[in-house]
Formats: sequence, structure tokens, C-alpha cells
Amino acid sequence: MPNRVMISPDTSPIPCERCGRDTLYVARLVSGEGTLLGQVMVCTSCRQDRRAQRSRRGG
Ligand SMILES: [Zn+2]
Repeated sequence: MPNRVMISPDTSPIPCERCGRDTLYVARLVSGEGTLLGQVMVCTSCRQDRRAQRSRRGG
């Protein structure tokens, strides 16, 4: 089963370094079995643009 990213309801958005918008959230990375794998930073704005920037990889 695929991993899931869950954004906490009480999480306040912070400025994103990529797009500059206040849409970056601290989310929990949970496996398909419900195991907490860790925390990830999720930007809802960059997430929408990910398709276009898929070929680009951070470095
Ligand atoms: Zn962003």
C-alpha cells in the first residue's frame, strides 16, 4: 500500500522557500499500514506544480 501524507489540522503554514507562498506545512508520513515513518514538509502550492517540475531534482 502506498504511503500517505497527513497534514495536522492544527498546523500553521509557513513560508515555502521554493514558491515563496505561505503554504508549507509539516505533515506526517504514514505507511499504508498506519505506521508513522516520520515528518515531511509539504507545500500545497508546489504540490500542484510538481507535475511540471518532475524532471527537476533537488540538489
Ligand atoms: Zn512551495
